[in-house]
Order: sequence, then structure tokens, then C-alpha cells
Amino acid sequence: MNVNYEILRKRMVDEQLISRGIKDRRMLDAFSKVERHKFIPVDLRASAYADFPVPIGEGQTISQPYIVALMTECLGLTGKEKVLEIGTGSGYQTAILAELAKEVYSIERLPGLVKKVEPLLNELGYANIKIKCADGSLGWPEAAPFDRIIITAASPQIPWPLSEQLKENGRMLLPLGETFSQVLTQIEKRDNKLHAIQVCACVFVPLVGKYGWQKQK
Ligand code: SAH
Repeated sequence: MNVNYEILRKRMVDEQLISRGIKDRRMLDAFSKVERHKFIPVDLRASAYADFPVPIGEGQTISQPYIVALMTECLGLTGKEKVLEIGTGSGYQTAILAELAKEVYSIERLPGLVKKVEPLLNELGYANIKIKCADGSLGWPEAAPFDRIIITAASPQIPWPLSEQLKENGRMLLPLGETFSQVLTQIEKRDNKLHAIQVCACVFVPLVGKYGWQKQK
């Protein structure tokens, strides 16, 4: 199929991000650059730049572009940060983070997704991303502490290893709540205490792990 993805991508940036208040130039450049369709199964690429989440296999989804942008904006990246991402999924958010931060550590629990994502991110030339297949609710202790932590799967509580691995004055973003309805929550660590800000309602697939949901619901 002869689809002009560049035009679709520009339209996505204008109609879904700028029109909803995303202003930061570095962010808009990152969303204009990263080829979202490459992170989406070939048969679903017609929906790659649409305003909704898309299935990526194994019962998981790539988040809607605006949600990826909103979460990234909340992280407030300047280019110097070491970021931990839990829930690599398609790797799209990982690539956006790699454009805007210094280094990205990303954990995905499903080997089938890791097998697809690793070669793709290498092919796209990202040298500042490390991926591992594991339970991300345990964090990545060998690489800690992190300036920012982003969890792109829903958890009933803040996994404590992640709050331990967050730097002082660091920031964590996660969907907190029940299986089908959560609140996107921004956590800041100050004086070794966690302070929470509620951002908006959201729906994510569950964080399945020791400090998330015990099994797939
Ligand atoms: N940011 C991704 C979102 C993928 S959906 C994207 O836009 O493509 C959330 C992902 O979290 C799924 O791939 C799921 O397998 C993964 N996940 C769920 N629980 C996890 C855990 N404990 N550790 C690591 N990854 C987990």
C-alpha cells in the first residue's frame, strides 16, 4: 500500500498534540521524527497515526499518541536524564524518551515483544537504550538510581522497589488504580518523601508482577 506516513505523522502532531496544548519544541520534533508506523504490526499500520491505542500482539497495546506525549511532557526531560521505563511494549515510547533524555533503561516482561523491539531500535540507530526482559516492578537495581521513572502499565500501588530507585528530586509517572480505570499520577521525591499529583483519568493494560498485579486479569 502506498501510504504517505510523513503526511499522516505531521497531521498527528498538529491535530492530536499541538491542538491539545503540547507546545515544547523538542517534544514536537521528537514526535515528528519517530516513525510510529514501524512500531505497529504491518496489518494495522493504517491506524498507526490514529487517535487511539492499537494492538501490538500478545494482548498488549501501543498507547494513543496523545497519552505518550502527555506522559513524556509530565516527565519534563531536558536531555540530561537517566530514565527507567517499565513496559517497553512496542518500543515507541522508548524511542521518544531516547530522543529527549540521555539514556533509557526499559524493561518488558514478555519475551515475544522484546524479540521484536530490540532489533527495531538497533536498526533505527538508538545507542542510548538498554532493554531487558524481566519483571519491571522490581526495577533495575544495578542501573539505579534514576532521574525519571515511567510505568506504562497500570498498578494498584507504587511498586516500592521503584520508589527506592528514584533519585532525590526525581519524578515518576504511573497509572494508579483498578484494572479498567486508573488515574495517571505524577510522583515527586523530595526530602526522601513521595508527593503525588493526579494528572487525568486513563486506562492501561495491567502491570503484571511481584509489586503490581499478581497475575494477568
Ligand atoms: N509504552 C508501550 C505500552 C505498552 S503496554 C507502548 O506504547 O507501546 C504495557 C506493556 O507493559 C506491555 O507490553 C506489557 O507486557 C508490559 N508489562 C506489564 N507488566 C510488566 C512488568 N511487570 N514488567 C515489565 N513489563 C510489563
